[in-house]
Amino acid sequence: MSGFVPFNRAPVTGRELELIAEALNAPHMAADGVHTKWCQAWLTERLGAPHVLLTTSCTSALELAAILCGIGPGDEVIMPSFTFVSTANAIVMRGGTPVFVDIRPDTLNIDEKRIEAAITERTRAIYVVHYAGVCAEMDAINAIARRHGLLVVEDAAQALLCSYKGKAAGALADMACFSFHETKNVVSGEGGALVMSSADQYVRSRVHAEKGTNRTAFMLGQVDKYTWVDKGASYMPSEITAAVLRAQLERAEDIIADRLATWQRYHEAFAQAERDGLLRRPVVPQECVHNGHIYYVLLPDNGQRNAMIATLKANNVGSAFHYIPLHSSPAGERFGRVHGDMTVTDTLPGRLLRMPLWYGMGTAADAAAEALLKALRVPHPA
Ligand SMILES: *Cc1c(COP(=O)(O)O)cnc(C)c1O
Repeated sequence: MSGFVPFNRAPVTGRELELIAEALNAPHMAADGVHTKWCQAWLTERLGAPHVLLTTSCTSALELAAILCGIGPGDEVIMPSFTFVSTANAIVMRGGTPVFVDIRPDTLNIDEKRIEAAITERTRAIYVVHYAGVCAEMDAINAIARRHGLLVVEDAAQALLCSYKGKAAGALADMACFSFHETKNVVSGEGGALVMSSADQYVRSRVHAEKGTNRTAFMLGQVDKYTWVDKGASYMPSEITAAVLRAQLERAEDIIADRLATWQRYHEAFAQAERDGLLRRPVVPQECVHNGHIYYVLLPDNGQRNAMIATLKANNVGSAFHYIPLHSSPAGERFGRVHGDMTVTDTLPGRLLRMPLWYGMGTAADAAAEALLKALRVPHPA
């Protein structure tokens, strides 16, 4: 393999241009046309979730979910700190407060055992993240939510076609948010979806997503005036975006199978290094089926992690760290609050290195794995 192995390369299935042309030639190219409906039907069927609304991003889906949860000033939402900014911003945009709790050392997902102690009379919801497409411990989390009358929202941005105890990510809580950003498994440039468990949420979501109007009811002939009825913004993607997403969803299984094969190559390549104590490989609990979204390793310390990213780059391999924990970011300190000890969040993410992983990378993964192993076996100054 010669040339640079990029960290990510967005998949192209080959049908995108044809479906975009269809969208351009259709009578309408704004939201809610045939391609949007096709994608929503596909997600509804594949996730076994009753209501799906395509959105312009996972960020907007997370915000819509916060509106549907009724988050307002002073309300608190419990979430991990090891996540993308959008999980927390969704709450902050409504005037609420993200309350960060620690993650589990095995999956790096929210530590369900730390949630209950963080609940106050202002707590309204729990936002969980399925990191690397490995689901959080949903049975325990849903049980806590039921005991305290809280809503649960899945940030399933990375978890398309993943499952927990045989049930699809996206159908494991009150609502779920997916991302089709170019860095995800299935992409439309920018894009997302909000999945809802109740018909009431779905009806309300369409009002908020259609600029606070009753356009849906008007189009269905349920009202005779098209008017402003509630808060809202523009959260629905155009048919051009939906056309790209459709071309990708048609091939979602192939894309995921290919990524899983690459994930497995890395996992086998690093088995001996783990036994030798040079790194730790990802942990996938028995009840979770993942989608090969991320292959990461945990290195002994932050210095070695940073050195490895530089060494890989010098050897033509793109790799990456991941989130700076939100509770130690400037906005996280300003808008959020921590509950309890954050030892795992404060240590493991600084040791995490993501290997390049994209559809069709084939033997480039072997070259990348070899480059990391070679660098790890050279003693580095501590
Ligand atoms: C990618 C990602 C998002 C944001 O997705 P967008 O579609 O870019 O808005 C949110 N949360 C997590 C966990 C993500 O990985």
